Parts: sequence; structure tokens; C-alpha cells
Amino acid sequence: MSQFPLNSLPPDSSALRARVREFVAANLPAGWRRNSDFMSGYDADFSAKLGAQGWIGMTWPRQYGGGEHSYLERYVVTEELLAAGAPISAHWFADRQTGPLLLHFGSEIQRERYLPSICRGECFFSIGMSEPDSGSDLASIRTSARAVDGGWLVNGSKLWTSFAHLNQHMVTLVRTAPPSDKRHEGMSQLIIDLNGDGVEVNPITNMAGRAEFNEVVFTDAFVPRENLVGIEGEGWQQVTSELAHERSGPERFLSTFRVYVELIRLLGRTPAQHQAAAVGRITAQLMTLRRLSISVAGMLEAGQTPNLEAALVKELGNNFEKALLEMTRQAVPEQGDRGAYEAAYIESLLLSPSITLRGGTREVLRGVIARGLGLR
Ligand SMILES: Cc1cc2nc3c(=O)[nH]c(=O)nc-3n(C[C@H](O)[C@H](O)[C@H](O)COP(=O)(O)OP(=O)(O)OC[C@H]3O[C@@H](n4cnc5c(N)ncnc54)[C@H](O)[C@@H]3O)c2cc1C
Repeated sequence: MSQFPLNSLPPDSSALRARVREFVAANLPAGWRRNSDFMSGYDADFSAKLGAQGWIGMTWPRQYGGGEHSYLERYVVTEELLAAGAPISAHWFADRQTGPLLLHFGSEIQRERYLPSICRGECFFSIGMSEPDSGSDLASIRTSARAVDGGWLVNGSKLWTSFAHLNQHMVTLVRTAPPSDKRHEGMSQLIIDLNGDGVEVNPITNMAGRAEFNEVVFTDAFVPRENLVGIEGEGWQQVTSELAHERSGPERFLSTFRVYVELIRLLGRTPAQHQAAAVGRITAQLMTLRRLSISVAGMLEAGQTPNLEAALVKELGNNFEKALLEMTRQAVPEQGDRGAYEAAYIESLLLSPSITLRGGTREVLRGVIARGLGLR
């Protein structure tokens, strides 16, 4: 059964929110208007400035450069940055996933080596799970790591790897043992240097004309033993433990938020009744999703692994992000300066097919939810 305990952001979070807004206003170029999507802006300098504010690795221990803040404080920072369309792609995966993974399973050497520089906004990670014939069925991956003196030789390829052409490292799911009847065994996670020998990164242009994801090909790429994350052969359990972090945040329902903001700007203070109704409907759905997502942040804060609830947030949130486009289109006035609205709409429309693919497809999530609810 799913549970969404009622949760609220801490009372002092409005001061933090104000600081983030001030920071964004001071550090985004004038007239900056980008999608509220975590994939839509890669800017290492901006990440370094965020790092200097202490807004990367916010929940991590101080000894590794973190701020020991709560997940709910992190939530405030994340939603403000997303709402502003700030360029957060560079540090995104390291902050959301790699850090928690290393804190949970990484060696002390790995924590000391990577976490402080992730927090400073200098060290960026990609996530290497999907392969040409393995996306939803991740257990069918074929990229292999053959044990050699001092480490492994990796061969195979990864696909759709976000920002592998710009990031330095990738946490890569590989087979350290051949497939057997027990499909989920024999996989391991390795940290691979994306600029290393035997690693070729080929950017793929998406339909918006941007190169954001890649094919990554390994040909006898040597990975030292010390780059194994956690326990050899237990990569599957480790990967699935990341899912609640990956699927529940405000990025799962804010990707098209700017379209809604531009609609409200365009409608001004005197919308027609059907326009006001559309804004009301969108707002009600947005606020409901936000409560669900904040509830999951509270569960993460309590040390739980709410994978079912996170899958529900992603599935409902992704549907909302897509439906928002049509809901705004039906309310947009025929008169007035529609330029900013249309720019946001077109950018979001081109992004929209990926919304229900990345991080687990709609069908797969519904399967997870059905299983979690005992319906399957
Ligand atoms: C913008 C973007 C960024 C991405 N970034 C990354 C990244 O950084 N790292 C990474 O590892 N991956 C990344 N991915 C890959 C993403 O995780 C996969 O695309 C996704 O898991 C689906 O896998 P697939 O593309 O192989 O499709 P498939 O798994 O082949 O699915 C094809 C279709 O079949 C359906 N289907 C599959 N299995 C079932 C089933 N059992 N029941 C019902 N229907 C099913 C799916 O829902 C889908 O509609 C990214 C994808 C996108 C779009």
C-alpha cells in the first residue's frame, strides 16, 4: 500500500527561498528565460557558484563538503532553481544520485575523492545504465567487465547517456559475471573516467537540435579495482536503491512550468472565465503533486526508501507536465504579445516525448506501481 504522510516545508524555508531567488536574479544573464527542465542548461560556472553557496550536496555530511541540511531544505533550493529555468544540468546527476550512492555504498577513498569536489560544483557525473538493447529491461545489459590484474577491462556500449560528452565520470552498470538464471545477479557499478583510454563518447542530437545525450563505447577500457562502487555482483540492488531519489523530486512535474508562467503573464489581471478556470485547474494539480513530492522528500529525510511512492509521483507528474501544454493552449488569448508564451510552448513541446521515457517509461512505472499496490 502506498503512504503519503502529510508533510510541510520547514517554517524558516521562506528565508532560504528568498536567498535562492536573490541569487538567481543576480547570477542569471539578463532576460534569461529557459525551460524549467533539469536537462535544459549546462553551465559549469553556474554550478560552481551554486557550490560556493552550499547548494550542492546540501544533505551530505560536512566532513565531505556537504551542508547537513534536510531533504526539505534541498527541496526548496531545487524547486526554485527549476522554476527559474536555471542552468543546473552540469551537477544535476552527481548531486541527485551519485552523492547519495557513494554515501551509501562507496568506499572511504571514493567519498573523499569525489564528494567535496561535487559539492564545489567542479566534479560532474553521468549515469550509465541504458544500452542499445537494454532500457526498460535493464537486467539484460551486456556491457562486460573482465577481471584483469588490478581491475577490469570493460567492453560494450551505453546509450542515451545524458551529458557524457561534458561530464568527467560515469557510474556505469556492467556485467562482472555472465548472465545466469538469476538475471539480477552478476552486475556491478564502476566509476569510469569518460576521458580515459578506450572510452569513446558520441553525442546524439535530439529533435530540438541539441546534443544532450550520447552513445558511450568501451573498447578494452581499463578500470582500476578501487573504482568499484560497493560490492561486486550487487550492482542491481545498488541501482534500485537510487530510484526513490531519481523519481520523486520537483523535476518530475516542473519540466514545462515556464509555459504556465508565460500563460499567466499573457493573461494579465483580467482573464476570461475559461482562462481563469484553466489556470485554476493547472494550479490545483500542481499544488497536489507538490504535496506528494514533499511527502516523499520527508520520507527520504526519515531514511526510508519510498520507491513505490516515488514511482507514483513520477507517473502522475509526467502526465501533468505533458497535459499542461494542452491545458494552456486552450486558454491562450488570440490577441496580445504571445512571443514568450510561444517560445516556451515550442521548447516544451519538443521536450515532451522524452518526459515519459527518461528515468523509467510510463508503462514500466505503471508496472512498478501495480506491483507495489499488490495488483500484479
Ligand atoms: C532525455 C533522455 C535522457 C536519458 N538519460 C539517460 C541517462 O543519463 N542514463 C541512462 O542510463 N539512460 C538514460 N536515458 C534512457 C532511458 O532510461 C530509457 O530510454 C528508458 O529506460 C527506456 O528504455 P528504451 O529507450 O530502451 O526503451 P524500451 O525499453 O525498448 O521501451 C520501448 C517501449 O516499450 C515499452 N515497454 C518496455 N518494456 C515493457 C514492459 N515490460 N511492459 C510494458 N511496456 C514495456 C516502453 O514503455 C516503451 O514505450 C535517457 C532517455 C531520455 C529520453
